[in-house]
Amino acid sequence: MLVKLQDLYFKPFISEAEIQDAVQKMVDKVAIDLKDEMPIFVGILNGSFMFVSDFVKKYPHPCEVTFIKLASYDGVKSTEDIQRLIGLTQDLTNRTVVILEDIIDSGNTLEEVHRIFKNENVKQLIIATLFYKPEAYKKDFKLHYVGLEIPSKFIVGYGLDYNGLGRDLPAVYQLKTTQHMTNIVLFGPPGAGKGTQA
Ligand code: 5GP
Ligand code: MG
Ligand code: MG
Repeated sequence: MLVKLQDLYFKPFISEAEIQDAVQKMVDKVAIDLKDEMPIFVGILNGSFMFVSDFVKKYPHPCEVTFIKLASYDGVKSTEDIQRLIGLTQDLTNRTVVILEDIIDSGNTLEEVHRIFKNENVKQLIIATLFYKPEAYKKDFKLHYVGLEIPSKFIVGYGLDYNGLGRDLPAVYQLKTTQHMTNIVLFGPPGAGKGTQA
C-alpha cells in the first residue's frame, strides 16, 4: 500500500520482518565480537531511535546506551552542513563505543561522528549501520557492521523521516518516482525540509 507524506508517495520496500531479521543478524555478530567488552551503544538521533531500541532489546549481554543528536538532511537531500544539537555528556575514556546509525548515505554525518570521538580517548570506535547506500558513500571510514545495502533512493519509516513524518512506520518505504517527481528528488521540493533532523 502506498504511503503519502505531504507531497510525496512512498511504496513498500523493506518489511518489518526483514528489518527485524537484519537487526538480529547484526546483534548476533556484534555480540560474538564484543562478548568480552562492556560496550556503550551510541545512537545518532533522531533517525536511529527505533533501530537502537530493537538492537539493545535483542543484545544478549550487559551494555550501556546513550544518544547524540546531529542534523544533516534537508528534505530528501543529504547536506554537508552537519549540526550538533546534543553532544556527548559522559566520559568515554577507554570505552568500546559502538555507533548505531539508521542509515549511511554520503558519509558526511559519519565524518562528523569521527570528529566528535577523535579526542575522547576511546578504546575503539565501531560503526554499525542498519542501512547503507554504497553508491552514495563518498568517504573511506570503515563500516564494521552493515544490516542491509540499499540503492541510492530516498526511504522513510523505521525512524527515518521526510520532513518529520514517517518515523513511526514499523516498515520501510521507498520514494515512488514519476517523471515529475524525479525533478523533485533532484532539486528538492520548494521550501521543504528546513530543520529536518538526522
Ligand atoms: P549522510 O550524512 O551519510 O549523507 O546521511 C546520514 C543521515 O541522513 C542519516 O542518519 C539519515 O538521518 C539521513 N538520511 C540519509 N539517507 C536517507 C534516506 O534515504 N531517507 C531518510 N529519511 N533519511 C536519510
Ligand atoms: Mg541517522
Ligand atoms: Mg531526516
